[in-house]
Amino acid sequence: METKRDFLKKLGLLTVGGVVAGSVNPLQAAVSNAKAGGKSIGLQLYSLGRELSADVPAGLKKVAEIGYKTAELAGYGGGKFYGSEVADFKKIAADAGLKITGSHVNPPVRKYTAENKAEVAEFWKKAVDDHAKLGVITLVQPGMPTIDSHEDAAIVCEVFNKAGEIAKAAGIKWGYHNHSGEFKRVVKPEDKEKATNPWSQAGDIVYDLLLNGTDPKLVFFEMDVYWTVMGQQDPLDYFDKYAGRFPVLHIKDRSVLGQSGMMNFENIFNRAYKNGLDEFYVEIEGIKTGMTQFEGVKQCFDYLNKASFVK
Ligand code: MG
Repeated sequence: METKRDFLKKLGLLTVGGVVAGSVNPLQAAVSNAKAGGKSIGLQLYSLGRELSADVPAGLKKVAEIGYKTAELAGYGGGKFYGSEVADFKKIAADAGLKITGSHVNPPVRKYTAENKAEVAEFWKKAVDDHAKLGVITLVQPGMPTIDSHEDAAIVCEVFNKAGEIAKAAGIKWGYHNHSGEFKRVVKPEDKEKATNPWSQAGDIVYDLLLNGTDPKLVFFEMDVYWTVMGQQDPLDYFDKYAGRFPVLHIKDRSVLGQSGMMNFENIFNRAYKNGLDEFYVEIEGIKTGMTQFEGVKQCFDYLNKASFVK
């Protein structure tokens, strides 16, 4: 009869000294992590793509087993969360041992106008109601509305403030998440001759117009640090200039965190904590061939979990 020892040997898990370090059951690892307190590292679930949608309950369990404590959703639509009614989804998350603290939601219109701003507000009322039942702390718009002028930016700020007001009434913080497009400039008609292209120094950076045009009591900014760098800006400058506006971050790199060499996460965390960082979510895209999304998500967790600059 095959002994347990033979079986482990076959798997390559047994050395002369016993079980190889690192071959610990992931669930045990998660439990010991939780027992030890551990760091509160969050995951934007968009990172998992179809590997999550294939089996949401099992996927959320895996996320918790890796060691993530919180998650930000990217699966709200038609009043449901990843296809489940709110009560069912709440149970799925609770069973997985994952705290759902945030959610990304885009309104159905891209270009805001005086005519459709009431419709957008109605959308947020419903989204806020559904998310209040789920019990999230933050609700975030991840997609950029059309902004080609100062007038566009002004109406976007008005719509954002209104969304923030609706969310605040339900005890939820409302925020905006950027990509790189927010770092283009818009130019007033009288300054047009100074602008040779959208990246010229003439005009105003859209992101600054949004920061300056929204009420800090109603709208926060979930900066995606990778997209800010891709927009040719330094996240640290923004943390200093707009202290307190970035309580939540997306920690992202070109692929696995810390591998591209283009992101100085130590400086980012140090400066962000100094200026009011409460929470952050890992996000990963651009996974290399031969690696699953879950493997990429685990490597990102390990990087931050080991990093002395992450509290
Ligand atoms: Mg992001």
